[in-house]
Amino acid sequence: MKNKFNDELLNFLDNSTTPFSATANMVKILTNMNFIRLDESETFNLIDGQSYYVTRNDSSLIAFRYNKELLGFKMMGAHTDSPTLKVKPNPVIKKNSTIQLGVEPYGGVLFNTWFDRDLSLAGRVTYLNESENIEDAILDLKTPIALIPSLAIHLDKNANKDRTINAQTDIVPLISSGEKFDFEEFLKSSFKDLGITDVSTILSHELSFYDTQKASYVGLNKEFITSARIDNLLSCYVITKALVDSSDNSLIFCSDHEEVGSDSTSGAGGTFLEEVLRRIHKDDEQYFKAMRASLMISCDNAHAIHPNFSSKHDENHSPKINQGVVVKVNANQRYASNSSSIAKFKLAALKADLKIQEFVTRSDMGCGSTIGPITATKLGVETIDVGVPTFAMHSIRESAGAQDAQELYEILKLVSF
Ligand code: ZN
Repeated sequence: MKNKFNDELLNFLDNSTTPFSATANMVKILTNMNFIRLDESETFNLIDGQSYYVTRNDSSLIAFRYNKELLGFKMMGAHTDSPTLKVKPNPVIKKNSTIQLGVEPYGGVLFNTWFDRDLSLAGRVTYLNESENIEDAILDLKTPIALIPSLAIHLDKNANKDRTINAQTDIVPLISSGEKFDFEEFLKSSFKDLGITDVSTILSHELSFYDTQKASYVGLNKEFITSARIDNLLSCYVITKALVDSSDNSLIFCSDHEEVGSDSTSGAGGTFLEEVLRRIHKDDEQYFKAMRASLMISCDNAHAIHPNFSSKHDENHSPKINQGVVVKVNANQRYASNSSSIAKFKLAALKADLKIQEFVTRSDMGCGSTIGPITATKLGVETIDVGVPTFAMHSIRESAGAQDAQELYEILKLVSF
């Protein structure tokens, strides 16, 4: 199942190690397709038939095709962030002739998957340049510079029974042996590799660790893909492709901070999407009519049934890998799908001659959520929550089916609203 679509998806996953680089990589795809940049601090002068994108905080993105005759948008949503270990502001810890960088978990990190990996560091650094201006740079060191070694089984006989992981003390990455290390000098030297030579003072940073192992095909017939950040950069890539390859009134919204609840300036709980939509539609009357005529397809991964843990799923609603895109339903509105939005999505799948699956969490278990219910609440727009089946969600290395991402892309192109 190796093909061009998946090759490009895996390449996107490898190069998008933080929400900042994911956003930059989506901008690259859009710019290549003649999308024009809008700046939120300037007036939007939209030209009929033109395509645009706008970013906020370098980590969230909205892009759309503008056709003033058509009312409403086929909106497609996803999130740019993934659980990770973020470097603390004053991170350097020197202990037992080792140097470590203190980290704070971001989102629901599956800690045990972070041990014994070759880690690198990426993110945004804000600095004062030699002309006294504040500048941002997106860094990605690419090479492995850190590791979190496991505690050997000989030192913990219960390791396979009841080992727990303390977030403050047990997952602190090691970056060097020895005593000498200056974090600011280290960042400045990384800047030089980027060709930035006018750094006067490092003012702040938002850096996080990631696994340097490249995304891969796995399985006898390469039927699985494995990578970091499949949740939810797979969906970011798929909806970006669906937008650039369609000619209708489509809009994509890729937001940061979903893994921590979406409440932020650039998250789905913030003002970004509503403000951009209001600026596109100019007056209240037009905006309200457009929201009634629009559909949001919120794309985020679904839990595939795991053969070793099949009791964790409802028998009749247990998505299988490579058996179709998943429509997510929850009576308590943790997912925003309703019969009307589901019908529109199913019809598109029928047209594409593709199967879909339905997911409902076990009634005796809690249900996850995503940006669908949040944007539904903020905009009052009809919404459906969908996604591809995934194993090991929030692991440092997640897996999915090699067939499912492209099927989501095919269906998205055919959904009418
Ligand atoms: Zn997600």
